[in-house]
Amino acid sequence: MLALGLVARWIHLASSIFLVGGAVMIVMAGPSDRPTARRWERRTLAATRALAEAHDEVWCTLGTHPHNAAEEADIGLDEYVGLASHPKVVAIGEAGLDYHYDFAPREVQQAVFRTQVAAARLTGLPLVVHSRDAEEDTIAVLESEREQGAYTPLLHCYSSRAILAERGLAIGAYVSFSGMITFKGADEIREVARRVPLDRLLVETDAPYLAPVPYRGKPNEPAYVVHTLGALARVKNVTVEEMARQTSGNFFRLFRKVVRPPGYEADR
Ligand SMILES: [Zn+2]
Repeated sequence: MLALGLVARWIHLASSIFLVGGAVMIVMAGPSDRPTARRWERRTLAATRALAEAHDEVWCTLGTHPHNAAEEADIGLDEYVGLASHPKVVAIGEAGLDYHYDFAPREVQQAVFRTQVAAARLTGLPLVVHSRDAEEDTIAVLESEREQGAYTPLLHCYSSRAILAERGLAIGAYVSFSGMITFKGADEIREVARRVPLDRLLVETDAPYLAPVPYRGKPNEPAYVVHTLGALARVKNVTVEEMARQTSGNFFRLFRKVVRPPGYEADR
């Protein structure tokens, strides 16, 4: 199968999952994306962590999605940092701002986002950033927090205007593209990808949403990520194999707590 052995894949299944080659590498976010979710330590975190503990190849992230910011606004920095010390928690997030749905008041989203940036800074874990229709305020939070000290953002499922990627890259961000990059009308997203250096790129599925062409409109699944990878390779004018090698390497460099499966040693 096309380049699967080298593909670092990130799926989004009500949360986030990565796959690498034959080994299934899953990164699931703690909270649900749904605004009706309850606090994560009682629900999704427990379930996600149990899944990660049960399978060597499954890893999880820990965070409060902006949709859930209001109900999880009381979670403090110490609590995030403490829970993130679990050996299978490999990132903070998804955290960020979603002004498309506005499920939580914007000031609350910003405060909860800042707490999680601080958690990323303190733990040294990457921060998976969700930003929708909120470029300016996302930049404001990322840059002002950067002045407090370094951390590494991952701008996931990139669909924002170019300015967010530009400013993010300047503070060391990685940028992850979904099946949207294959869509006919997505010239703006492809133009963003063209400007992202090869060593800062990732691909993801955002499953079950955003299936790439030729599966657009159908439920997305991990195997389809090769089409996203192919589109990204065309944009960057490299071979699919080279793109796969890059995204795999980037994945392991970013998610340092993830143990490399056989065949993915550091020198590959
Ligand atoms: Zn997201």
